[in-house]
Amino acid sequence: MTVAYVGLGANLGDARQTLKDAVVCLAQQAGVTIVARSHLYHSAPVDADGADYYNCVVALETRLSAHQLLRLCLDIEQHFGRERPYKHAPRTLDLDVLLYGEEHINDTDLTVPHPRIAARAFVLLPLNDLRPELEIPGHGRVTDLLAGVADQRIERVALCCCPNKRAANTK
Ligand code: AMP
Repeated sequence: MTVAYVGLGANLGDARQTLKDAVVCLAQQAGVTIVARSHLYHSAPVDADGADYYNCVVALETRLSAHQLLRLCLDIEQHFGRERPYKHAPRTLDLDVLLYGEEHINDTDLTVPHPRIAARAFVLLPLNDLRPELEIPGHGRVTDLLAGVADQRIERVALCCCPNKRAANTK
């Protein structure tokens, strides 16, 4: 079993509801157990178009390989209507594999830790909810990285990204 962290973002359609539904969807997948969910955040787009985003991060234990987890994330994005009309377009759902254990992966289709993990408040604040002491390989502790993104506009909007725990944990 590997502990992985997946970041979720959405700024198209009913983005807040989509994040909740996507967490439930992830939790229902074989080989995936959600072990923790961050609070829900509302953030300004960074290198992206459109409305403000809703964001959260989940920690999961998984039997899937990193590439299988990426494939699953892409399939779930597709299920929730993700389209890529142009780079940085608004999105119904974006799922990023932020961390996969302590692995460093540099493949054509997968980079882990996620290349922008340490530069985005909408990733670091939710990660800080889950594991402030977590060491991001090559970057440092989550809690120590927060100062570097303090200028980015973000607010916490709910105590948990998915309050319906029973639904999220149903396999
Ligand atoms: P985007 O359109 O911004 O959601 O980017 C999706 C593409 O980024 C996918 O086709 C992946 O192959 C690639 N990618 C590389 N590393 C990662 C990662 N850590 N998490 C998610 N997607 C990744």
